[in-house]
Amino acid sequence: MSLSKVSKPGLYRELPSVDEVMHTSAVATLASSHGATTVTDAARVVLARLREEIASGLLDENALKLALAGIGSAIEEQVRRAMSYSLRQVINARGVILHTNLGRAPLVEAAIEHIRETAGAYSNLEFEIASGERGKRDVHVQRLLERLLGVGSTGEEPASTRTIVVNNNAAAVLLALNTLADGGEVVVSRGELVEIGGSFRVPDVMAKSGAVLREVGTTNRTRIGDYENAINEKTRLLLRVHRSNFEITGFTEQASMAELRDLAAKRGIPLMEDLGSGALVDLRNFGVEGEPSVIDSLRGGVDVVTYSGDKLLGGPQAGLISGRADLVARMRANSLFRALRVDKLTYAALEATLLAYVTRDYDAIPTLKMMRLTKEEIGRRAGAIAERVGIEISHSTPQRTRREAGTTAAVENDSSAKLQIEVIDGDSVIGGGAAPSAVLPTRLLALTCEGLGADELAARLRAGDPPIVARVEEGCVLLDLRTVFAEQDEMIVASLRLFGDK
Ligand SMILES: *Cc1c(COP(=O)(O)O)cnc(C)c1O
Repeated sequence: MSLSKVSKPGLYRELPSVDEVMHTSAVATLASSHGATTVTDAARVVLARLREEIASGLLDENALKLALAGIGSAIEEQVRRAMSYSLRQVINARGVILHTNLGRAPLVEAAIEHIRETAGAYSNLEFEIASGERGKRDVHVQRLLERLLGVGSTGEEPASTRTIVVNNNAAAVLLALNTLADGGEVVVSRGELVEIGGSFRVPDVMAKSGAVLREVGTTNRTRIGDYENAINEKTRLLLRVHRSNFEITGFTEQASMAELRDLAAKRGIPLMEDLGSGALVDLRNFGVEGEPSVIDSLRGGVDVVTYSGDKLLGGPQAGLISGRADLVARMRANSLFRALRVDKLTYAALEATLLAYVTRDYDAIPTLKMMRLTKEEIGRRAGAIAERVGIEISHSTPQRTRREAGTTAAVENDSSAKLQIEVIDGDSVIGGGAAPSAVLPTRLLALTCEGLGADELAARLRAGDPPIVARVEEGCVLLDLRTVFAEQDEMIVASLRLFGDK
């Protein structure tokens, strides 16, 4: 770094005031099209940044002159940034299908269409068109859920299953517990007192609902007799919580659903299950074991089941409560329901998602489609990306090696770091607190870059537009295309090619 001749206080004096900047012609023009407030704010940000750079010794006299010459475009860029959306699309290359931080389930195309049709206009959200009377918003998903949850393979069906929709599954659990057990006791196994994603803890939600927790059994073993012994005149509910995000293995025992159902029936106490991930189909057909569906739960004798709309169901964020009509009706009548209900966008998205299940159009549901992708399909796409990145760079650079046809490529040019791409075996996971032990075999693009740490490489991928969010493992950046839409492969190629130019 060159020595600056001008002292720091001297450099600060070179900085124009906000007012002076606003009066330069370029910035004044900007203000006339974007408004003075927006541009003034941007000018403040840019000047503050320059002050910081002086303070940290990044700017000497010449660098500052250069920066001041370009201040108009720096402010314009800042205005553009301030006016662009904060919520934006990213490419999920982590291979976690239901990534809570990345918005969980991407919606069915028809859901977006249905939102577009109904949300930008008036709708019959709570209006019966035939009678012209006030209606209920529940009806829009009720009829589809009755079909999906009501039809048993034997023709017998869970008697008149009803469903209501709230903001998320945490809200569903809160509403159910408050309605069914406020002031009373809820019996739950110690092995099921779970925390999900850091903010949903069964005991905390229980406390807010006004119900008192009666913990039974031990972390690894709870027998039906433990539940039975805990029942007293204050008991309002037996609760089972699906251990969504962990497994207890080894010396374990859990009361079976049949035992719980029989006990609940014998004592006249409702049985509720917090399923978390609400699969509406048998996921074994999608390569996922050990994840009970909503139907399994209802057929198993549960009176009320709560589940998320944006986990295995693959729809919008929502919490669904399905079960005995009389119990669900009580929840609907609870004033909390009014506070937790969902809006028209959610109903539109949920209705379209459920319709895809009714018509068995499973490939239209992105999360289910991702689950079904085979390792071979993913491997082919990964190979194609490695190949295309390699070939493109080889035009401009002499050195390129391919160790194994289509699976390994190294790109290099004389001035830059060298990007190595390999295609290796790995696992994708479901995520979102679902099916903790289910892994889906996949193929990964493994990236390393000479002269660049894996974290730095991952940060550069995130700096792209759209940002690519990858996994970093053992000094490698891993891209799993299972969660990347095929039409995004092109963007990955473009992003990786940039490393050849740096
Ligand atoms: C995910 C989950 C929740 C919380 O659901 P949200 O829809 O995120 O509010 C509650 N219980 C279980 C068992 C879960 O898996």
